[in-house]
Amino acid sequence: MGVFDRLASEYEQIVFGHDPATGLRMIIAVYSTARGPALGGTRMWAYETEEHALADALRLGKAMAYKAACANLPLGGGKAVIIGDARRDKTDALLRAYGRQVERLGGTYITTADVGTTVKDLDVISETTRFVTGTSHGSGDPSPVTAHGVWHGMRAVAEAAFGEPSLEGRHVLVQGVGKVGSGVARKLRTEGARVTVADIDTEAARALATEIGADIVAPSEAFEVPCDVLSPCALGPIVTKKTLGLFKCAAIAGAANNQLEQPSMARALADAGILYAPDYVINAGGLINVEDELHGYDSVRAHRKAEAIADTLREIFAAAEAEGITPAEAADQLAESRIRARISPD
Ligand code: NAD
Repeated sequence: MGVFDRLASEYEQIVFGHDPATGLRMIIAVYSTARGPALGGTRMWAYETEEHALADALRLGKAMAYKAACANLPLGGGKAVIIGDARRDKTDALLRAYGRQVERLGGTYITTADVGTTVKDLDVISETTRFVTGTSHGSGDPSPVTAHGVWHGMRAVAEAAFGEPSLEGRHVLVQGVGKVGSGVARKLRTEGARVTVADIDTEAARALATEIGADIVAPSEAFEVPCDVLSPCALGPIVTKKTLGLFKCAAIAGAANNQLEQPSMARALADAGILYAPDYVINAGGLINVEDELHGYDSVRAHRKAEAIADTLREIFAAAEAEGITPAEAADQLAESRIRARISPD
């Protein structure tokens, strides 16, 4: 499908920017502004081809619209990609040139960090555009709010899977104990859950296990541990043709993006009797956090908003049950209906 066909069928705007002086080559894909400005991060990556860069911007921009709609935020969805190696090609001049491109869109697109860009980069970008969130003067690291949202989401998962939201006495396997996973594990232990952790960073796993009183398993065995909830907080995809037969959990609920190798995996999980919390719904705390900055950042308010992820999941599980579809399909339907209806909470 050509670029103009894409525009005609789905996307609102695709912007290509080039600044020869700094070497900037970038694409901003605005999927939708129906519910508000398109907020999404800037990914800097050494794409093999320009087509790969465009495909990534389009895919990620659409995903942001779905995430924002399910989180009921007054946002559309979009994403930007800068073509280049973040370690080699990133300069302050390039970031400023990029900021000028964002500024030209007049607020249709608001940027934040993603793979290959940092809070420090956002500070530089903010020198040439007002349309940036997540700077060091703003909401900062979103991980605590993401973890808070995952924990509340997991309580909705427990309610649907076991009949009550409490995780006390439940066994949760947390795969990946970085910024989000460690927060989820701490909250679970505070609630009285039994926690097992797995991380390729064995020192991080050991330190956290000692701190909170958790068990440890080798990362290669993480998917085979019998548990109530598997919480993937490392990198996706984790539900693959290879892993499907290994799971011994009742539910999957974690922060990692792109947990399903293919959309069809959602049906396979349902057939296996495993309740799946759609990743972009349960991990929306990070987006909720940066969106809050647009109103003058308030950490307490951002945490409170992230708790509503549990209500969204309840709605999604109920719709899936009623319509005989998977939670992933129900989440997509909820997002699509909200985007179509242009219903924004504000
Ligand atoms: P992080 O880099 O701080 O932590 C990831 C952890 O996973 C690291 O400790 C790493 O050693 C571990 N890991 C990597 N591969 C592993 C494997 N195969 N087995 C076990 N452990 C492994 O990242 P993070 O910020 O905590 O994010 C975790 C996931 O959540 C990512 O997929 C991210 O895209 C997603 N996410 C994060 C946020 C956020 O606010 N940080 C928001 C939404 C989604």
